Amino acid sequence: MRRNADELNKMRKAGKVVAEMHEATRAAIRPGITTMDLNNVAAAVIEKRGARSNFLNYQGFPAVICTSPNDMIVHGIPGDYVLKEGDIISVDCGAIVEGYHGDAAYTAGVGEISNEAKRLIEVTERSMWAGIAQLTIGNRLHEVGRAVQDLAEAAGYGVVREYVGHAIGTAMHEMPQVPNYWPGSPGPTLKEGMVFAVEPMINVGGIDSFVLEDGWGVMTEDGSLSAHFEHTIAVTENGPEVFTVL
Ligand code: MG
Ligand code: MG
Repeated sequence: MRRNADELNKMRKAGKVVAEMHEATRAAIRPGITTMDLNNVAAAVIEKRGARSNFLNYQGFPAVICTSPNDMIVHGIPGDYVLKEGDIISVDCGAIVEGYHGDAAYTAGVGEISNEAKRLIEVTERSMWAGIAQLTIGNRLHEVGRAVQDLAEAAGYGVVREYVGHAIGTAMHEMPQVPNYWPGSPGPTLKEGMVFAVEPMINVGGIDSFVLEDGWGVMTEDGSLSAHFEHTIAVTENGPEVFTVL
């Protein structure tokens, strides 16, 4: 779906709130705090900006962010897990402003982290930007996934298939999906005003996963580290415009 100028402005505002949630949670990450502490920091930003949470109560999800440490890929429920030196933590944030959604994620290290973890985080973020660069008028949507996959697999990593990006607007998850791999066909032609969430989930090891008993947390089957980066981006005549930045 294509969004008009007024809708895009609302999505810019939602994106700024999400970016502020990123900034505040990043600043709070340190050994000794819990993932619920991070949730509370993010909730305070939503409150301060008069925004609404799109995560809270989404299919019963009980928090305003997802926090996924180490071998958790995505969808972790914030709770009493205490971050420790050497962990990596993926933080996925979203907000609604005037009925329009923003959605973005990052992975950060807690204190000093291993070189392997650093490299995973760097490659995952780079793969996201490689995907975002494909969001140009006239290009085909699934070039995003091809770009992500090429970069991540060249680094020797596994690209998660079961969870993907998505169009976004008046709902957080709209069609079409945005796979992080080449799905075998080029997909829709990109037009001005389309908005997508590009969100590679990349594993050091294999791509198989399982869901925890809480029904949410998605873990790597082989216990390898996983990272996740995401932005909300519009296709514009000037190229991709990232909304979820300050
Ligand atoms: Mg998303
Ligand atoms: Mg997200």
